[in-house]
Amino acid sequence: MADKKELVVPRTSEDIIIDVNASVEDQIKQAELKAKLMELELKAQALEAQKLEIVERQYHIKDLKAKIADRDIREKQLKEDREQQGRSIAQQDATDKYRFSVCTHRKGGMASSRDVRVLSTGGNSNQYAVIKHQMINGDIWVRCLRCGRTWAPPVEKNFFFDEKGRQVAPADGTFDKAKFTTAVEDYKRATMLETNNSMSTSVQCRFSTIDLETGKVVDAADLYRESIASTNLR
Ligand SMILES: [Zn+2]
Repeated sequence: MADKKELVVPRTSEDIIIDVNASVEDQIKQAELKAKLMELELKAQALEAQKLEIVERQYHIKDLKAKIADRDIREKQLKEDREQQGRSIAQQDATDKYRFSVCTHRKGGMASSRDVRVLSTGGNSNQYAVIKHQMINGDIWVRCLRCGRTWAPPVEKNFFFDEKGRQVAPADGTFDKAKFTTAVEDYKRATMLETNNSMSTSVQCRFSTIDLETGKVVDAADLYRESIASTNLR
């Protein structure tokens, strides 16, 4: 007859309690089994940890992808906004150019409740509807009170164009001498327009700067002009 021992299958290494009353051999066997089970458990835990790491990494990748997508959307929106702005500015420029071109810049003319066009297109008087303003550096700027066109001393750096004829920074285009000369002529004519409006002036200053190479004081009227070249008297 075989020895009838109750067969207990241990689930974890914790379930194995070494019986100090058993034979040394049995105790060793129990200890070995306990050690084996522990080893397996450690391996299982390591595997579980690796699985969790993979899951965590996947979440991280998802997060990153979402962030990148968000940024793409923001950049696209920004680009569209900029393009829209560019279009609005171009439209405003075109509208201004048209208004300037149809204006006689003269006083006079009759405005009626039915037709007030003369207020923006100018009249037919000998006198011009312009104000002349002497800037802080002595330059004279002229502005039409009807259409708002402003004539200022042309600045060379604003007469560089690319192949498509768009105005660009000096480094990106070529200087259009003809356009510049025309602008200078236009400006001179504007300063001579006859008007009985009196000229307004600013406090007069001379602009100078120190040349970094020579250490000498040099005239900086051009620098001043360049820095205010894109403004008008509006
Ligand atoms: Zn005008």
